[in-house]
Amino acid sequence: MAESKRDYYEVLGVSKDADDAALKKAYRALAKKYHPDMNPGDTEAEKKFKEASEAYAVLSDPDKRRQYDQFGHAAFEGGAGGAGGFGGFDFSSADFSDIFGDIFGDFFGGGSRRGGRANTGPTRGANVRKGVRITFEEAVFGCEKELDVVLKDPCGKCNGTGAKPGTSPETCSKCGGRGQIVYTSQSFFGTVQNVQTCPECHGSGKVIREKCPDCGGSGYVSSHKKIKVTIPAGIDNGQSVRIRDKGEPGVNGGPRGDLLVEVTVSRHPIFQRQDVHIFSTAPISFAQAALGGDVRIKTVDGEVIYTVKPGTKTDTKVRLKGKGVPSLRNPQVRGDHYVTLVIQTPEKLSAEAKEALRRFDELSGNTLNQDLSNAERSKTKKKKFMDKLKETFEDLEE
Ligand SMILES: [Zn+2]
Ligand SMILES: [Zn+2]
Repeated sequence: MAESKRDYYEVLGVSKDADDAALKKAYRALAKKYHPDMNPGDTEAEKKFKEASEAYAVLSDPDKRRQYDQFGHAAFEGGAGGAGGFGGFDFSSADFSDIFGDIFGDFFGGGSRRGGRANTGPTRGANVRKGVRITFEEAVFGCEKELDVVLKDPCGKCNGTGAKPGTSPETCSKCGGRGQIVYTSQSFFGTVQNVQTCPECHGSGKVIREKCPDCGGSGYVSSHKKIKVTIPAGIDNGQSVRIRDKGEPGVNGGPRGDLLVEVTVSRHPIFQRQDVHIFSTAPISFAQAALGGDVRIKTVDGEVIYTVKPGTKTDTKVRLKGKGVPSLRNPQVRGDHYVTLVIQTPEKLSAEAKEALRRFDELSGNTLNQDLSNAERSKTKKKKFMDKLKETFEDLEE
């Protein structure tokens, strides 16, 4: 084949160790000089332009450049290059539109420059969410839980490339490895560009011809992993614990995402919580309320003895200082536990207890003997009504 082909570095006039910027600069200068639009009908210029474009397409692609450095032009000739060749370099499918965009931008003062090779830089992996349910007490005092998480890891068989061992992913010929395609068209106002994700490689810039049997070409394998999570004292329903680097793997050497463990706290039969405070009600007997005395009150630390004052009314609120929830920021600081004391009315009484209560009633004002007959009741009502009327009339007379 074309033995007289010039060396690509020579074509661009750059050294063997030229970096991307130097390549681009050299190619841009040549493209400007020889572009067919600038040299209508000049076949020599067109030839030079194509030569420079081909050289740039190869050298600006790290994979192709490596193959070229190793095998020279043979790397791209009819798949005979022996390096798992490219099956011939197809110039027509190479895409130079981003650099053309730059050039046309220079020429016409229009056209938008598209920065960046969308998906080729290191990208952090996505975060993974996992829920865990804990008890009220576990939330108050903290706990350790073991989670069963499905984690993605780079495939060991293909080292995450997705290609069958012995083969390697090839640079997408449709987009030239950029992952996106810039459609450039000329309009009355200048160059118009549309950027689209490459349909061939879906933005990765790589195409896998033979897929790795272990991961099916994805480059990742999923496995169940046991992950211990320490849930801090004071966590509340709906809050999350972040475990660094246990999310999805990064792309192109980017760091892993995080695992976010979302905590659901089960309801407690007695305790309710608001921030760092706990609320509950505690029953006390009428005798305890009237005479005072010690009552046992349940807290998250166990039962405590609280001394009720004589003459305590129902719904009296008591504060048990420091018996609430530890602060997430400082576990040494705890909220309070507010208890509402509710006087219980006895429903089942022995004959003896009933007698004692009647006796108590007699001693405290005979409330039980207010049981009036119906006649008396209506009379009282009427009387009350007449009293009211009278009062009203008196008001009017004034
Ligand atoms: Zn694999
Ligand atoms: Zn592509």
